[in-house]
Amino acid sequence: MPGKYWLETYGCQMNFAESNAIEIEFVSAGFIPALNPEEADIAVLNTCSVRQTAENRIWGRLGYFQHLKDNKEITVILTGCMAERLSEDIKKKSPAVDYVVGTNDKQRIIEVVQGISRASEEYSFKSSYEGKSNSKSLLPIMNGCDNFCSYCIVPYVRGREISRDPDDILKEIAVLQEHGIKEVTLLGQNVNSYRFQKKDKMYTFPMLLRLISDAMPENSWIRFLSPHPKDFSDELINLIADRNNICSHIHLPVQSGSNSILKTMKRNYTREKYVDLIKRMRRADASITFSTDILVGFPGESEEDFKKTLSLVDEVEFLDAFMYYFNPREGTEAMNLPDHLDNETKLYRLQQLIDFQRKRSRELKQSRLTRTERVLCEGVSKKDKLAMLSRTEHDEIVIIKDSSVLIDYFIDVTITHLVGNTYMGEVVCPGKRY
Ligand code: SF4
Repeated sequence: MPGKYWLETYGCQMNFAESNAIEIEFVSAGFIPALNPEEADIAVLNTCSVRQTAENRIWGRLGYFQHLKDNKEITVILTGCMAERLSEDIKKKSPAVDYVVGTNDKQRIIEVVQGISRASEEYSFKSSYEGKSNSKSLLPIMNGCDNFCSYCIVPYVRGREISRDPDDILKEIAVLQEHGIKEVTLLGQNVNSYRFQKKDKMYTFPMLLRLISDAMPENSWIRFLSPHPKDFSDELINLIADRNNICSHIHLPVQSGSNSILKTMKRNYTREKYVDLIKRMRRADASITFSTDILVGFPGESEEDFKKTLSLVDEVEFLDAFMYYFNPREGTEAMNLPDHLDNETKLYRLQQLIDFQRKRSRELKQSRLTRTERVLCEGVSKKDKLAMLSRTEHDEIVIIKDSSVLIDYFIDVTITHLVGNTYMGEVVCPGKRY
Protein backbone atom coordinates (compact mmCIF):
# COMPACT_ATOMS: atom_id res chain seq x y z
CA MET A 1 0.00 0.00 0.00
CA PRO A 2 2.70 2.64 0.79
CA GLY A 3 3.02 5.39 -1.77
CA LYS A 4 3.23 9.16 -1.60
CA TYR A 5 1.25 11.35 0.80
CA TRP A 6 0.29 15.01 0.71
CA LEU A 7 -0.69 16.84 3.89
CA GLU A 8 -2.38 20.26 4.14
CA THR A 9 -2.86 21.92 7.52
CA TYR A 10 -5.22 24.76 8.41
CA GLY A 11 -5.84 26.65 11.65
CA CYS A 12 -4.11 26.62 15.01
CA GLN A 13 -0.71 25.48 16.28
CA MET A 14 -2.35 22.37 17.73
CA ASN A 15 -3.35 21.31 14.22
CA PHE A 16 0.23 21.85 13.04
CA ALA A 17 1.57 19.74 15.93
CA GLU A 18 -0.92 16.99 15.16
CA SER A 19 0.02 17.12 11.47
CA ASN A 20 3.65 16.51 12.52
CA ALA A 21 2.42 13.42 14.39
CA ILE A 22 0.48 12.29 11.28
CA GLU A 23 3.66 12.69 9.18
CA ILE A 24 5.59 10.51 11.63
CA GLU A 25 2.89 7.82 11.22
CA PHE A 26 3.03 8.03 7.41
CA VAL A 27 6.84 7.89 7.27
CA SER A 28 7.06 4.96 9.70
CA ALA A 29 4.46 3.11 7.59
CA GLY A 30 6.76 3.47 4.56
CA PHE A 31 5.06 6.40 2.80
CA ILE A 32 7.13 9.23 1.34
CA PRO A 33 6.07 12.89 1.10
CA ALA A 34 4.80 14.09 -2.30
CA LEU A 35 6.12 17.36 -3.69
CA ASN A 36 2.61 18.38 -4.74
CA PRO A 37 -0.94 16.94 -4.67
CA GLU A 38 -0.68 15.89 -8.34
CA GLU A 39 1.90 13.18 -7.52
CA ALA A 40 0.27 12.01 -4.25
CA ASP A 41 -1.59 8.72 -3.75
CA ILE A 42 -3.19 9.89 -0.56
CA ALA A 43 -4.06 13.46 0.53
CA VAL A 44 -4.93 14.52 4.07
CA LEU A 45 -6.56 17.87 4.82
CA ASN A 46 -6.26 18.72 8.52
CA THR A 47 -9.06 21.26 8.84
CA CYS A 48 -10.15 24.16 11.04
CA SER A 49 -13.68 25.14 11.99
CA VAL A 50 -13.12 28.15 14.21
CA ARG A 51 -14.31 30.66 11.62
CA GLN A 52 -16.60 30.33 8.60
CA THR A 53 -13.83 31.74 6.38
CA ALA A 54 -11.60 28.78 7.32
CA GLU A 55 -14.32 26.31 6.28
CA ASN A 56 -14.98 28.22 3.04
CA ARG A 57 -11.31 27.88 2.13
CA ILE A 58 -11.46 24.13 2.65
CA TRP A 59 -14.62 23.80 0.50
CA GLY A 60 -12.63 25.59 -2.20
CA ARG A 61 -9.74 23.11 -1.85
CA LEU A 62 -12.18 20.19 -2.08
CA GLY A 63 -13.29 21.57 -5.46
CA TYR A 64 -9.65 21.38 -6.56
CA PHE A 65 -9.31 17.77 -5.30
CA GLN A 66 -12.53 16.79 -7.12
CA HIS A 67 -10.98 18.09 -10.34
CA LEU A 68 -7.76 16.15 -9.55
CA LYS A 69 -9.73 12.96 -8.93
CA ASP A 70 -11.28 13.22 -12.39
CA ASN A 71 -7.77 12.81 -13.82
CA LYS A 72 -5.97 10.45 -11.44
CA GLU A 73 -6.44 8.05 -8.54
CA ILE A 74 -6.04 9.70 -5.18
CA THR A 75 -7.56 8.98 -1.76
CA VAL A 76 -8.73 12.14 0.00
CA ILE A 77 -9.06 12.16 3.80
CA LEU A 78 -10.57 15.03 5.75
CA THR A 79 -9.69 15.33 9.42
CA GLY A 80 -9.66 18.03 12.11
CA CYS A 81 -12.36 20.26 13.55
CA MET A 82 -14.41 20.74 10.36
CA ALA A 83 -14.45 16.97 9.86
CA GLU A 84 -15.61 16.53 13.46
CA ARG A 85 -18.28 19.23 13.16
CA LEU A 86 -19.85 18.15 9.86
CA SER A 87 -18.96 14.46 9.97
CA GLU A 88 -20.29 12.29 7.11
CA ASP A 89 -22.39 15.22 5.76
CA ILE A 90 -19.17 16.42 4.12
CA LYS A 91 -19.20 13.38 1.81
CA LYS A 92 -22.71 14.23 0.67
CA LYS A 93 -21.61 17.76 -0.22
CA SER A 94 -18.25 16.84 -1.70
CA PRO A 95 -17.75 13.48 -3.47
CA ALA A 96 -14.00 14.25 -3.49
CA VAL A 97 -13.81 13.07 0.14
CA ASP A 98 -13.18 9.34 0.69
CA TYR A 99 -12.80 9.30 4.47
CA VAL A 100 -13.83 11.64 7.29
CA VAL A 101 -11.70 11.11 10.41
CA GLY A 102 -12.65 12.84 13.70
CA THR A 103 -10.28 14.80 15.96
CA ASN A 104 -9.88 11.85 18.34
CA ASP A 105 -8.62 9.62 15.55
CA LYS A 106 -6.52 11.92 13.42
CA GLN A 107 -3.19 10.63 14.71
CA ARG A 108 -4.12 7.09 13.68
CA ILE A 109 -5.28 8.00 10.20
CA ILE A 110 -3.46 5.17 8.45
CA GLU A 111 -4.92 2.55 10.80
CA VAL A 112 -8.40 4.07 10.52
CA VAL A 113 -8.20 4.08 6.73
CA GLN A 114 -6.94 0.49 6.65
CA GLY A 115 -9.80 -0.50 8.95
CA ILE A 116 -7.34 -1.71 11.62
CA SER A 117 -8.57 0.77 14.18
CA ARG A 118 -12.11 1.73 15.02
CA ALA A 119 -13.32 5.19 15.97
CA SER A 120 -12.18 6.16 19.44
CA GLU A 121 -14.09 8.15 22.02
CA GLU A 122 -10.94 9.50 23.58
CA TYR A 123 -8.14 11.69 22.27
CA SER A 124 -4.71 10.04 22.29
CA PHE A 125 -1.46 12.01 22.26
CA LYS A 126 1.30 11.10 19.81
CA SER A 127 4.86 12.42 19.46
CA SER A 128 4.94 15.46 17.21
CA TYR A 129 8.57 16.52 17.43
CA GLU A 130 9.41 16.05 13.76
CA GLY A 131 8.79 19.59 12.64
CA LYS A 132 10.08 21.69 9.78
CA SER A 133 12.59 23.44 12.03
CA ASN A 134 15.73 21.97 13.57
CA SER A 135 15.58 24.28 16.56
CA LYS A 136 11.87 24.64 17.41
CA SER A 137 9.17 22.17 18.29
CA LEU A 138 5.48 22.17 19.24
CA LEU A 139 4.52 19.85 22.09
CA PRO A 140 0.81 19.21 22.88
CA ILE A 141 0.28 18.66 26.63
CA MET A 142 -3.52 18.81 26.81
CA ASN A 143 -6.46 18.78 24.44
CA GLY A 144 -10.04 20.03 24.54
CA CYS A 145 -11.75 22.69 26.61
CA ASP A 146 -14.32 22.79 29.42
CA ASN A 147 -14.94 26.54 29.27
CA PHE A 148 -17.66 26.89 26.64
CA CYS A 149 -17.08 30.58 25.85
CA SER A 150 -20.35 31.48 24.16
CA TYR A 151 -18.78 32.26 20.74
CA CYS A 152 -16.46 29.26 20.49
CA ILE A 153 -16.90 25.94 18.65
CA VAL A 154 -13.79 24.31 20.16
CA PRO A 155 -15.43 22.46 23.12
CA TYR A 156 -17.91 20.89 20.68
CA VAL A 157 -15.33 19.72 18.13
CA ARG A 158 -12.37 18.97 20.43
CA GLY A 159 -14.35 17.66 23.39
CA ARG A 160 -13.62 17.90 27.13
CA GLU A 161 -10.19 18.66 28.56
CA ILE A 162 -7.80 15.77 28.70
CA SER A 163 -4.19 16.12 29.90
CA ARG A 164 -1.16 14.09 28.95
CA ASP A 165 0.89 11.96 31.36
CA PRO A 166 3.79 14.14 32.64
CA ASP A 167 6.22 11.20 32.27
CA ASP A 168 5.39 10.94 28.55
CA ILE A 169 5.87 14.69 28.16
CA LEU A 170 9.27 14.54 29.89
CA LYS A 171 10.33 11.58 27.72
CA GLU A 172 9.48 13.66 24.65
CA ILE A 173 11.44 16.59 26.06
CA ALA A 174 14.46 14.24 26.37
CA VAL A 175 14.04 13.20 22.71
CA LEU A 176 13.84 16.86 21.70
CA GLN A 177 17.13 17.51 23.53
CA GLU A 178 18.77 14.68 21.56
CA HIS A 179 17.50 16.32 18.35
CA GLY A 180 19.11 19.63 19.41
CA ILE A 181 15.77 21.43 19.79
CA LYS A 182 16.24 24.81 21.50
CA GLU A 183 12.69 26.13 21.72
CA VAL A 184 9.64 24.14 22.81
CA THR A 185 6.08 25.51 22.74
CA LEU A 186 3.69 23.63 25.03
CA LEU A 187 0.24 23.49 23.45
CA GLY A 188 -3.32 23.15 24.65
CA GLN A 189 -6.62 24.91 23.98
CA ASN A 190 -6.55 25.99 27.61
CA VAL A 191 -2.95 25.13 28.37
CA ASN A 192 -2.70 26.38 31.97
CA SER A 193 -5.66 24.31 33.14
CA TYR A 194 -3.45 21.21 32.65
CA ARG A 195 -4.13 18.66 35.43
CA PHE A 196 -3.00 15.06 35.59
CA GLN A 197 -3.70 12.72 38.50
CA LYS A 198 -0.92 10.16 38.94
CA LYS A 199 -1.18 7.78 41.88
CA ASP A 200 -1.84 10.12 44.82
CA LYS A 201 -0.32 13.21 43.18
CA MET A 202 -2.14 15.86 41.13
CA TYR A 203 0.19 17.50 38.57
CA THR A 204 -0.84 21.08 37.77
CA PHE A 205 0.48 23.31 34.98
CA PRO A 206 3.05 25.16 37.14
CA MET A 207 4.32 21.79 38.46
CA LEU A 208 4.71 20.44 34.93
CA LEU A 209 6.34 23.65 33.70
CA ARG A 210 8.86 23.50 36.58
CA LEU A 211 9.76 19.90 35.65
CA ILE A 212 10.20 20.85 31.99
CA SER A 213 12.27 23.90 32.93
CA ASP A 214 14.51 21.66 35.10
CA ALA A 215 14.89 19.18 32.24
CA MET A 216 15.89 21.80 29.66
CA PRO A 217 19.22 23.70 29.60
CA GLU A 218 19.59 27.37 30.63
CA ASN A 219 20.13 28.28 26.99
CA SER A 220 16.77 27.12 25.74
CA TRP A 221 13.30 28.61 25.51
CA ILE A 222 9.96 27.32 26.73
CA ARG A 223 6.73 28.94 25.55
CA PHE A 224 3.10 27.94 26.11
CA LEU A 225 -0.09 28.59 24.14
CA SER A 226 -2.84 29.60 24.92
CA PRO A 227 -3.31 30.30 28.62
CA HIS A 228 -6.67 31.43 30.01
CA PRO A 229 -6.52 34.50 32.31
CA LYS A 230 -8.81 32.83 34.88
CA ASP A 231 -6.35 29.94 35.38
CA PHE A 232 -3.20 32.05 35.83
CA SER A 233 -1.98 31.42 39.40
CA ASP A 234 0.64 33.27 41.48
CA GLU A 235 2.71 30.08 41.44
CA LEU A 236 2.83 30.32 37.62
CA ILE A 237 3.66 34.06 37.70
CA ASN A 238 6.58 33.49 40.08
CA LEU A 239 7.89 30.53 38.11
CA ILE A 240 8.00 32.55 34.87
CA ALA A 241 9.85 35.33 36.72
CA ASP A 242 12.35 32.90 38.31
CA ARG A 243 13.33 30.77 35.34
CA ASN A 244 15.56 32.05 32.54
CA ASN A 245 14.45 29.35 30.14
CA ILE A 246 10.72 30.23 30.37
CA CYS A 247 10.10 33.06 27.90
CA SER A 248 9.05 36.41 29.35
CA HIS A 249 6.36 36.84 26.75
CA ILE A 250 2.79 35.68 27.27
CA HIS A 251 0.02 35.48 24.71
CA LEU A 252 -2.97 36.16 26.95
CA PRO A 253 -6.30 36.38 25.09
CA VAL A 254 -8.51 39.18 26.51
CA GLN A 255 -11.25 39.28 23.81
CA SER A 256 -12.93 42.50 25.11
CA GLY A 257 -12.37 45.44 27.45
CA SER A 258 -16.04 45.65 28.49
CA ASN A 259 -17.27 43.72 31.52
CA SER A 260 -20.79 43.28 30.16
CA ILE A 261 -19.43 41.79 26.90
CA LEU A 262 -16.96 39.57 28.80
CA LYS A 263 -19.92 38.31 30.81
CA THR A 264 -21.99 37.50 27.70
CA MET A 265 -18.92 35.84 26.20
CA LYS A 266 -18.70 33.72 29.40
CA ARG A 267 -15.01 34.47 29.83
CA ASN A 268 -15.15 34.23 33.64
CA TYR A 269 -13.01 37.27 34.41
CA THR A 270 -13.53 41.02 34.45
CA ARG A 271 -11.48 43.74 32.83
CA GLU A 272 -10.19 44.71 36.31
CA LYS A 273 -9.05 41.13 37.03
CA TYR A 274 -7.29 40.92 33.65
CA VAL A 275 -5.47 44.25 34.17
CA ASP A 276 -4.55 43.25 37.73
CA LEU A 277 -3.07 39.99 36.42
CA ILE A 278 -0.95 41.92 33.90
CA LYS A 279 0.26 44.27 36.67
CA ARG A 280 1.17 41.36 38.98
CA MET A 281 3.16 39.73 36.19
CA ARG A 282 4.97 43.01 35.46
CA ARG A 283 5.79 43.44 39.14
CA ALA A 284 7.28 39.92 39.24
CA ASP A 285 9.16 40.29 35.92
CA ALA A 286 9.84 43.82 34.65
CA SER A 287 10.87 42.56 31.19
CA ILE A 288 7.67 40.64 30.50
CA THR A 289 5.64 41.49 27.38
CA PHE A 290 2.18 40.50 26.17
CA SER A 291 0.21 39.77 23.05
CA THR A 292 -3.50 39.02 22.89
CA ASP A 293 -6.62 38.07 20.92
CA ILE A 294 -9.46 40.60 20.62
CA LEU A 295 -12.95 39.96 19.25
CA VAL A 296 -15.01 43.00 18.19
CA GLY A 297 -18.63 43.34 17.11
CA PHE A 298 -19.96 40.75 19.57
CA PRO A 299 -23.79 40.71 19.85
CA GLY A 300 -24.93 43.63 22.02
CA GLU A 301 -21.56 45.47 21.83
CA SER A 302 -22.38 49.19 22.12
CA GLU A 303 -20.12 52.04 21.04
CA GLU A 304 -19.28 52.49 24.72
CA ASP A 305 -18.32 48.80 25.08
CA PHE A 306 -16.07 49.13 22.03
CA LYS A 307 -14.40 52.25 23.48
CA LYS A 308 -13.63 50.23 26.61
CA THR A 309 -11.76 47.73 24.42
CA LEU A 310 -9.75 50.58 22.87
CA SER A 311 -8.94 51.95 26.33
CA LEU A 312 -7.81 48.49 27.48
CA VAL A 313 -5.45 48.27 24.48
CA ASP A 314 -4.13 51.70 25.47
CA GLU A 315 -3.69 50.71 29.10
CA VAL A 316 -2.08 47.27 28.72
CA GLU A 317 0.31 48.01 25.80
CA PHE A 318 0.32 44.76 23.84
CA LEU A 319 3.31 44.08 21.63
CA ASP A 320 0.99 42.38 19.19
CA ALA A 321 -2.66 41.37 18.86
CA PHE A 322 -4.72 39.02 16.76
CA MET A 323 -7.89 41.03 16.04
CA TYR A 324 -11.04 39.68 14.43
CA TYR A 325 -14.74 40.43 14.18
CA PHE A 326 -17.63 38.28 15.39
CA ASN A 327 -18.79 35.76 12.83
CA PRO A 328 -21.58 33.55 14.22
CA ARG A 329 -20.78 29.84 14.32
CA GLU A 330 -23.62 27.39 14.06
CA GLY A 331 -23.85 25.29 17.24
CA THR A 332 -22.51 27.98 19.60
CA GLU A 333 -24.55 29.89 22.16
CA ALA A 334 -23.67 33.28 20.67
CA MET A 335 -25.43 32.33 17.44
CA ASN A 336 -28.78 32.74 19.24
CA LEU A 337 -27.96 35.90 21.23
CA PRO A 338 -30.04 39.00 20.48
CA ASP A 339 -28.70 42.28 19.05
CA HIS A 340 -26.33 41.04 16.35
CA LEU A 341 -24.48 43.97 14.78
CA ASP A 342 -24.51 44.66 11.05
CA ASN A 343 -21.38 43.84 9.06
CA GLU A 344 -20.59 47.46 8.31
CA THR A 345 -20.37 48.33 12.02
CA LYS A 346 -18.28 45.24 12.78
CA LEU A 347 -15.82 45.98 9.98
CA TYR A 348 -15.60 49.67 10.90
CA ARG A 349 -14.83 48.86 14.54
CA LEU A 350 -12.29 46.20 13.56
CA GLN A 351 -10.43 48.70 11.35
CA GLN A 352 -10.45 51.30 14.14
CA LEU A 353 -9.05 48.72 16.55
CA ILE A 354 -6.36 47.54 14.11
CA ASP A 355 -5.25 51.15 13.45
CA PHE A 356 -5.11 51.94 17.15
CA GLN A 357 -3.25 48.75 18.16
CA ARG A 358 -0.73 49.28 15.32
CA LYS A 359 -0.09 52.82 16.53
CA ARG A 360 0.43 51.67 20.14
CA SER A 361 2.58 48.74 19.02
CA ARG A 362 4.78 51.03 16.91
CA GLU A 363 5.25 53.43 19.85
CA LEU A 364 6.13 50.49 22.08
CA LYS A 365 8.59 49.14 19.51
CA GLN A 366 10.29 52.55 19.23
CA SER A 367 10.70 52.67 23.01
CA ARG A 368 12.34 49.22 22.96
CA LEU A 369 15.15 50.19 20.56
CA THR A 370 18.89 50.01 21.31
CA ARG A 371 18.67 47.13 23.75
CA THR A 372 20.76 43.98 23.60
CA GLU A 373 18.75 40.77 23.35
CA ARG A 374 19.41 37.09 22.83
CA VAL A 375 17.78 35.89 19.60
CA LEU A 376 17.30 32.50 17.99
CA CYS A 377 18.36 32.55 14.35
CA GLU A 378 15.63 30.84 12.28
CA GLY A 379 16.90 31.11 8.70
CA VAL A 380 17.61 33.33 5.73
CA SER A 381 15.31 36.34 5.34
CA LYS A 382 12.80 35.89 2.50
CA LYS A 383 13.22 39.52 1.44
CA ASP A 384 17.03 39.68 1.53
CA LYS A 385 19.08 36.56 0.85
CA LEU A 386 22.11 38.17 2.52
CA ALA A 387 20.26 38.77 5.79
CA MET A 388 19.13 36.37 8.54
CA LEU A 389 15.76 36.23 10.28
CA SER A 390 15.83 35.78 14.04
CA ARG A 391 13.36 36.08 16.92
CA THR A 392 13.61 37.39 20.49
CA GLU A 393 12.04 35.66 23.50
CA HIS A 394 9.31 38.32 23.16
CA ASP A 395 8.41 36.84 19.75
CA GLU A 396 9.75 39.93 17.93
CA ILE A 397 11.37 39.41 14.54
CA VAL A 398 14.89 40.85 14.17
CA ILE A 399 16.66 40.98 10.81
CA ILE A 400 20.47 40.70 10.97
CA LYS A 401 22.43 41.86 7.94
CA ASP A 402 25.14 39.27 8.41
CA SER A 403 24.97 36.07 6.39
CA SER A 404 27.73 34.44 8.51
CA VAL A 405 25.29 34.01 11.43
CA LEU A 406 24.54 30.32 11.99
CA ILE A 407 20.94 29.08 11.73
CA ASP A 408 19.44 27.33 14.81
CA TYR A 409 21.78 29.02 17.30
CA PHE A 410 21.22 31.70 19.93
CA ILE A 411 23.28 34.86 19.51
CA ASP A 412 23.27 38.26 21.21
CA VAL A 413 22.30 41.25 19.08
CA THR A 414 21.85 44.96 19.61
CA ILE A 415 18.53 46.07 18.20
CA THR A 416 19.48 49.25 16.38
CA HIS A 417 16.49 50.57 14.42
CA LEU A 418 13.18 49.81 12.78
CA VAL A 419 12.52 49.39 9.06
CA GLY A 420 8.76 49.68 8.78
CA ASN A 421 7.63 47.49 11.68
CA THR A 422 10.64 45.17 11.64
CA TYR A 423 13.60 45.41 13.97
CA MET A 424 17.14 45.45 12.55
CA GLY A 425 19.94 44.06 14.71
CA GLU A 426 23.74 43.86 14.83
CA VAL A 427 25.68 40.93 16.24
CA VAL A 428 27.33 41.91 19.55
CA CYS A 429 30.18 39.41 19.52
CA PRO A 430 30.78 37.76 16.10
CA GLY A 431 31.46 34.03 16.41
CA LYS A 432 29.89 33.73 19.87
CA ARG A 433 26.84 31.50 19.84
CA TYR A 434 24.95 29.19 22.17
S1 SF4 B 1 -11.23 28.94 26.51
FE1 SF4 B 1 -13.05 29.68 25.39
S2 SF4 B 1 -12.18 30.50 23.46
FE2 SF4 B 1 -10.60 29.17 24.37
S3 SF4 B 1 -10.96 27.15 23.42
FE3 SF4 B 1 -12.10 27.18 25.37
S4 SF4 B 1 -14.15 27.82 24.80
FE4 SF4 B 1 -12.83 28.36 23.08
